Amino acid sequence: LPVLAVVGRPNVGKSTLVNRIIGRREAVVEDTPGVTRDRVYYEATWNGRRFTVVDTGGWERDVVGIDLSVAVQAEYAIESADAVMFVVDAIVGPTDSDEAVVRVLRKAGKPVVLAANKVDNMAQEADAAALWSLGLGQPWPVSAVHGRGSGDLLDAALAILPEAPAQRFGVTEGGPRRVALLGRPNVGKSSMLNKVAGENRVVVDKIAGTTRDPVDELIQLGGKTWKFIDTAGIRRRVHLTQGADFYASLRTTAALEKAEVGVILIDASERLTEQDTRIISLAVEAGRAIVIAYNKWDLMDEERRYYLEREIEQDLVQVTWAPRVNVSALTGRHMEKLVPAIETALASWEKRIPTGQLNAFLGTLVASHPHPIRGGKQPRILFGTQAGTKPPRFVLFTSGFLEAGYRRFIERRLREEFGFPGTPIEIRMKVRE
Ligand code: GDP
Repeated sequence: LPVLAVVGRPNVGKSTLVNRIIGRREAVVEDTPGVTRDRVYYEATWNGRRFTVVDTGGWERDVVGIDLSVAVQAEYAIESADAVMFVVDAIVGPTDSDEAVVRVLRKAGKPVVLAANKVDNMAQEADAAALWSLGLGQPWPVSAVHGRGSGDLLDAALAILPEAPAQRFGVTEGGPRRVALLGRPNVGKSSMLNKVAGENRVVVDKIAGTTRDPVDELIQLGGKTWKFIDTAGIRRRVHLTQGADFYASLRTTAALEKAEVGVILIDASERLTEQDTRIISLAVEAGRAIVIAYNKWDLMDEERRYYLEREIEQDLVQVTWAPRVNVSALTGRHMEKLVPAIETALASWEKRIPTGQLNAFLGTLVASHPHPIRGGKQPRILFGTQAGTKPPRFVLFTSGFLEAGYRRFIERRLREEFGFPGTPIEIRMKVRE
């Protein structure tokens, strides 16, 4: 279904308006592995046409726990939409953040319908008319609370909404593998991109099965074409006096949504930071294949190396399984190891263990290391199956709840037995009492 994004700063009445648009329709929570947090889409119908509404309200309480700048929030919502409903508080009039969103909207070039909200009566319609000044065409006066004008607004929205969704980039299967270079500012992402791109940039626009997006780059490496995601964001030097960390996290999340594998750069010459570990966590939660590149290795000395290894042991235990390359984007040191590491991670990410093999392994494991007895009962694993890949997802049918320690033990042994370097794996339980 085509997607209508509803965008606007907090308190303009966005959520009320969304509720009015969707009526009593139930929220559909997307269950796509790889979407960091569940993004809520609503299905709506108007005049017999079905479409999807994305309420951007959720962006205000993002994983990072900081209020998003409205413009940045809008940028990402708009990117994944076919048309945009921009909601402004007509009584307050346009604010600076509204103007910021207008600039984003202009740049994006998606069709926009302007909702002038809080116009509860005829007398206030003059306030709505003042919004012509935004240069987004006709403001549609509406009262989200009372419903006044909402029919006309929806007619206008549907008039600009395409019948079918645009083929969105990143959704396509097949085609070049999609890689995101991730890491906090100054770890060397743009240097690495330049190094790997070098003369390997693919200029051809039409490669079978790909949709080309100007923010991405096709690069020929090791006899294959790879798509490097969101390279414009890497190249664009973003200078923000505050919230730079936050902006980086947001970019990480957006890039992860489109990528299959994340190459996480860490500045080996400096102490690991919380932001490094947070980026790693985002990639793990997103269920992406992961490679960790310790960059600036040319600056290494004995002492720093000693401390780095300690820091890794302490702070990166959650990703001991990630392939590691020690590189220098500056000198090119060991850059040739990057592609094999990416390929290893992707192979694990897509690996499938046959059910027979999995259960033979589980049987032996349970026999030699049974779950501890709890409250006189001993939960047992009855049967296991790999329910999916990208990343590998396992479901264990059990006769009782397996405690966290035991589940971690199983994951560890699964990795030892079958090897999953470079991919998170997910283990779920179905308890049959
Ligand atoms: P980005 O913000 O992650 O894109 O980082 P940049 O690529 O802009 O790099 C930040 C700074 O680190 C620049 O001054 C680079 O020249 C420097 N740099 C990047 N990679 C290396 C490296 O491998 N070794 C050294 N010594 N410096 C590097």
